[in-house]
Amino acid sequence: MDDTALFTKLLGIAPPWRVTRVSVDVVAERVDVWVEEAPGTKCPCPTCAAPAPVYDHTPAQVWRHLDTCQCQTYVHARLPRTACPVDGVKQVPAPWAEARSEYTRPFETRIIDTCKECDVTGVRRLLRTSWDATWGVLERAVARGLARKPRRVPARLGVDEKAVRKGHTYDSLVVDLDRSTVEAVVDDRTQASLEAYYRQFTPEELATIEAIAMDMWEPYILATHACVPDAGTKIVFDRYHATRYVTEAVDKVRRQEHKALQAQDDLRLKGTKHLWLWNEENIPEWRRAEFDALKHATLKTSRAWAIKESLRGFWDYVYPKCAAKYFQAWYFWATHSRLAPIIEAAKTLKRHLPNLLTYFKHWITNATTEGINSKIQMLKLMACGYRNREHYKTAILFHCGGLDLYPRAT
Ligand SMILES: [Zn+2]
Repeated sequence: MDDTALFTKLLGIAPPWRVTRVSVDVVAERVDVWVEEAPGTKCPCPTCAAPAPVYDHTPAQVWRHLDTCQCQTYVHARLPRTACPVDGVKQVPAPWAEARSEYTRPFETRIIDTCKECDVTGVRRLLRTSWDATWGVLERAVARGLARKPRRVPARLGVDEKAVRKGHTYDSLVVDLDRSTVEAVVDDRTQASLEAYYRQFTPEELATIEAIAMDMWEPYILATHACVPDAGTKIVFDRYHATRYVTEAVDKVRRQEHKALQAQDDLRLKGTKHLWLWNEENIPEWRRAEFDALKHATLKTSRAWAIKESLRGFWDYVYPKCAAKYFQAWYFWATHSRLAPIIEAAKTLKRHLPNLLTYFKHWITNATTEGINSKIQMLKLMACGYRNREHYKTAILFHCGGLDLYPRAT
């Protein structure tokens, strides 16, 4: 088999295309392959697919392909332009590459596979690609995946905020709780950002949403009421977010009390921050004795902690009526605790009680979303932060969008 026949086979080149020349530069570790259509070929018009004569050719173009042994391999061609009697002069696409790509489809596929295993810097080192071209592949992969994605409104959604960088830049994530996929990443965490997601669907489609888990964040609540029919029965305030209000109140009580005790040389609360924040069963064995002594001491912090721990029982109920009764008792205890941060947190929960009780109808939490959040956090660490927000969104949808990313020959 001569080299042109070999590369015809390796590249999967089919008539009317053929390999006309191969050049191997062993020192430069480079293989160049020239491809042309057979003379006198009629190519299908890109618009109507009727065979049309070749009118002329584009200037020479080059595509990087998978390596041949240790050699980087490039495909060269001038693409024909057809003269269709109906559609006029049109450029025939290269059958081996996506439009506007400098890589062949198999090489794009390799980049996508590699990017699933490491960050863009790693991809560039392993495959010797450029930064911009690699991001170009990821952006095309995500665009392709979004275009192929069937139009559908998830039945059960999770909405959560995501800090883009330290400080106060946020994005909102919309997650399909059943598929564990990120459906959208929208700028900011305003009412308008979540509405932008909802508004791509018709009211009839939005009516098929069964439940939406979210934090008690006013803009999300308003956006959902503005767009989703019967939102009041569908919003479920996420139990982990709700508990966090009380956990933060415990921490506030501890800080205030520690300050007061310290002034009297009492250092009992020093270094105990996390003991009060962990769920009791998660306290490490070696600190258990210390914590047992603290929680039985007459401290404001231990009282606040007991109130926080007992709130967890609320979510163990099965019937909303029983849960509501439990909440009333808890609320009475919390609001009579004489601990200002705890009273404030209890009042916040009480205000949102109707949509805490919807949990006992829909049984959803944002745990999936939190899982995705930690995956995104890891992606961010791997990439040492994304250089711009669009890359960041692309990376989220690439890794967490559940999209069909791969190029396919048409
Ligand atoms: Zn045509």
